[in-house]
Amino acid sequence: MPSILQCMNCARQYPVDSVIYECEACGGLLDVQHDMDWLRTVATRELFDSRMGTWQMPYKSGVWRYKELIAPYAADDEIISRPEGNTNLYDLPRLAKWAGVGRLYLKHEGENPTGSFKDRGMTGGVTQAKRLGMTRVACASTGNTSASLASYAAFGGLQGIVLMQNKQIAFGKLSQSIAYGAICVRIDADFDKNLELVREVSKKLGIYVLNSVNPFRLEGQKSIMFETIQQLRWQAPDWIVVPGGNLGNSSAFGKGLKELYTLGLIDRIPSIAVIQAEGANPLYNAYTRGFDRLEPMHADTLATAIKIGNPVNYPKAVRAVQWTEGVVEQVSDQEIMESKAIVDGIGIGCEPASAASLAGIRKLVNSGTIKPHESVVGVLTGHVLKDPDATIDYHADRLEHVRAVCPNVIRDAAPTLEALAEVLGARVTER
Ligand SMILES: *Cc1c(COP(=O)(O)O)cnc(C)c1O
Ligand SMILES: [Zn+2]
Repeated sequence: MPSILQCMNCARQYPVDSVIYECEACGGLLDVQHDMDWLRTVATRELFDSRMGTWQMPYKSGVWRYKELIAPYAADDEIISRPEGNTNLYDLPRLAKWAGVGRLYLKHEGENPTGSFKDRGMTGGVTQAKRLGMTRVACASTGNTSASLASYAAFGGLQGIVLMQNKQIAFGKLSQSIAYGAICVRIDADFDKNLELVREVSKKLGIYVLNSVNPFRLEGQKSIMFETIQQLRWQAPDWIVVPGGNLGNSSAFGKGLKELYTLGLIDRIPSIAVIQAEGANPLYNAYTRGFDRLEPMHADTLATAIKIGNPVNYPKAVRAVQWTEGVVEQVSDQEIMESKAIVDGIGIGCEPASAASLAGIRKLVNSGTIKPHESVVGVLTGHVLKDPDATIDYHADRLEHVRAVCPNVIRDAAPTLEALAEVLGARVTER
C-alpha cells in the first residue's frame, strides 16, 4: 500500500500528491499515513544505526536517516536537505538537580541549519513542494518558520514568500528571511490573521502553503523523537517536554512516538508534556476543561515563537496528549526568562520560547506530576541568537513584566589598567 493522506476525523483518503491542506468532506486535518505492515519489515534499529555517521545524502541528515518513516515514496535526488538534524542531546546532571529529576536531557533543536526545529519540517515540506512541481512556497510566521522557509526555498530553487506581523518579530529571524531572499510582506495583523490570509491568497494564486497545517512538515518534525530515542540507545525516557504554540511539534511528536511503538522500536510510549506561556494558553485552558473545545484568544507573551492564540493543530495536539497519556502546563514569562537565564548560563543557550520546556519541567516536578526518579527530555526549540533583544533586555532588567533575578550586568570601565583591574576585583601586582 502506498503512503496516503488521511483525514483525522472521517478517515477519508487522498493520494499523497494532492495539493490539499484539509479534508474536502469535513474540513479535518490530514495525516500522511504510511504502510505500517511494510514498515515493520524495513524500519529496524539496525537500519537506522547503520546510517549513523554516513557521508551519503540524504541519509546523513537527521531527518532522512529515517526516510522510510518520513517519505518513503520520494526519490533520493528529489530531497531538499541542508542537511538538518543530528542535534545534540545534552545529559545535564546539574540541571537535573535544579529541576528535581533523576535524569535530565536537553535536545537542542536550535542546532539546526537555520537555528530552529522548523528546518526538520521544512525539508519535508519543500521536498513535497518540489515533487508537486510548485515554484512558490509561502507561510505566515512568528519568525522561525519564515527563516527556515526562506532558506530551504532558496536552497531548492523555489521562490519563498513570508507574511509577518509588523510587531514582535525577533531580530535574528527577520534578518534571516531577508538574507535568504524571500519576498517579505509585513502585515498589520497578528499571526492568526496572517495564517488565514496566506491560506486564502495561496489558493487564489497557486502557491504552496508551508505552515504547519501542511502535514509533510509534521512528518519531518517526527524525526526529533526518532533521533532522541536513537541517541538514548532506543530506550524511551519517561517524559518528553516541549513548548506549544501552533502545536505542530507536539502533534508530530505524538505521531512519531506512536509509530515507533507500533513498529516495536520502543517498548513503551513516553508521556508528552506540552508547555504554554500563560498569555498564550488556549491548549492549557482546554486541557483543564477535559479538552471540551478550543477557545481562541488574544495571545501575549515575551516568548514570541509561542505567541499564538488560535493553534491550527489543536486537534492533533489533543490526540498526542491522549495517545501518550500526557499533560499540558502553563508557565509565566517570569518563569520562562529565569529558565532561559539558566540554560544560557550553563553555556548552551536558547531563545525564550525554548526555555518554556525547562520552566515547565520544574513546575511539573513541584506539582508531583513528574516524579523525582523519572527521566526527562526537554526540547530546546530555537537558538540563543534568534532573539538577542530578549537576552540583553533581561540582563539589563529592562523587560516590562519580568524582573531579572540574577542578571549578568555589563560593567563599564575607564580605559586604564587600574580601572579595569578594579572592575575585575584584583589588585595589580608587580612581577
Ligand atoms: C515554532 C516554534 C515553537 C512552537 O512550535 P509549534 O509547533 O508551533 O507548537 C516553539 N519554539 C520555537 C523556537 C519555535 O520556532
Ligand atoms: Zn474528513
